[in-house]
Amino acid sequence: METLTLIYKKNLTEDLAIFRFQPSDGSPIDDFKPGQFVTLGQKVDNDKIIYRPYSISSPPSEKNYYEFYIKWKEHPTFGKFTTYLFNMDIGDCVFWRKPAGMFSIEEFFPNGISDTRQMILVATGTGLAPFMSYILHLKDTGTKKRITLLHGVKNETELGYRDTLENLASESNESWNFNYFPTISRPNDPQNKNWKGFTGRVQKLIKCIKDHQSELEKLLNEKITPENSMFYLCGYKAMIDDVLSILKSAGFVTNRNRRDDDSFDVEYELYGV
Ligand SMILES: Cc1cc2nc3c(=O)[nH]c(=O)nc-3n(C[C@H](O)[C@H](O)[C@H](O)COP(=O)(O)OP(=O)(O)OC[C@H]3O[C@@H](n4cnc5c(N)ncnc54)[C@H](O)[C@@H]3O)c2cc1C
Repeated sequence: METLTLIYKKNLTEDLAIFRFQPSDGSPIDDFKPGQFVTLGQKVDNDKIIYRPYSISSPPSEKNYYEFYIKWKEHPTFGKFTTYLFNMDIGDCVFWRKPAGMFSIEEFFPNGISDTRQMILVATGTGLAPFMSYILHLKDTGTKKRITLLHGVKNETELGYRDTLENLASESNESWNFNYFPTISRPNDPQNKNWKGFTGRVQKLIKCIKDHQSELEKLLNEKITPENSMFYLCGYKAMIDDVLSILKSAGFVTNRNRRDDDSFDVEYELYGV
């Protein structure tokens, strides 16, 4: 069975880390689409291998390793696989299955015409991982689309990739149009006392989109409609349910419930309940 070797691990907090893995046999990184996941596996108990999918956060142009952005599940019980992962040392191996998944950037409408709508990416927690791959890839390939990332976390320390994202937003010019809007949901926690940005859940930023009075529309200075915007959502169920209900009421249609002509305006990846 093929394995990947851990070559780098950086903790952002005790339960949040960036991992980089390389094929143990020295074979090259497979081609993959931004948004795809790799399945990692390990014998955890009873000699049975358990597998879990993890979105690749590095872009396809990174040929030295797969990068992942992973949360250690500790409540209500210790997660089986992440407990193993967070105790791994550099040089340790995991079993794996090659990149797979359909949560990728929609380049074209079903009729073959290029989809030039702006992309609005909404993530909670490690749901940011596939969007890092999207954003770095779109920067590499010189997209002309406006990209806006909304990232919701509990505390400021959980804003993974913040420096990279702030730098990418500050590089915006006529040919690269990227906005980064992070929000924290526990502004009153003493550890967030220096936070000056958005507060509340990420869905608060798109509330009232139906009446064109959302915070996001004010920030972008534009009405957001299915005609000019494509949404991508990634994270846990509560956020996805809330955002879908807001978007559906404003006429947006998901890829799992397409129009008769096969078109849609929202795609989402669910990490679990
Ligand atoms: C397509 C896809 C991509 C993903 N990408 C990422 C990613 O990039 N980063 C990331 O961090 N995660 C990602 N995930 C989630 C990931 O696959 C795992 O589900 C997650 O890491 C938890 O795995 P685990 O084995 O540690 O937890 P598990 O052991 O599977 O437990 C899951 C949860 O259930 C709780 N639980 C377990 N047993 C019980 C019990 N008896 N009673 C009550 N509660 C219990 C645990 O406390 C934990 O919160 C992705 C999921 C999908 C589907």
